[in-house]
Amino acid sequence: MKTCLVVDDSKVIRKVARHILETLEFEVREAGDGREALESCMAAVPDVVLLDWNMPVMSGMDFLRALGDSGIENKPKVVFCTTENGMGHIRAAIEAGADEYVMKPFDRETLESKLQIVGMA
Ligand SMILES: [Mg+2]
Repeated sequence: MKTCLVVDDSKVIRKVARHILETLEFEVREAGDGREALESCMAAVPDVVLLDWNMPVMSGMDFLRALGDSGIENKPKVVFCTTENGMGHIRAAIEAGADEYVMKPFDRETLESKLQIVGMA
């Protein structure tokens, strides 16, 4: 079973993502900000991270940078979540190490296709 770490400061979005990912047969872990996500990755590297952009404590961008500097081997694939207003972040996120992006709000089909692109579904 592949593991997905869902990183979002919204509990509702984490719940929606968890539901979709569980139907895609992922084992799901959750983190409420980038720092929690980094700690989770240090403890056990997930196969893929679904990463929100705007979060308190540590943003998605800062998480990407910290992950790059962490020395973690076998880095997870990272799909970052953006909104229409955040389209300008896509290039910055890819440059910082994200593999793919998904627009919020996403549905099962969209998320599954993005996970397929990064080789995870
Ligand atoms: Mg957020």
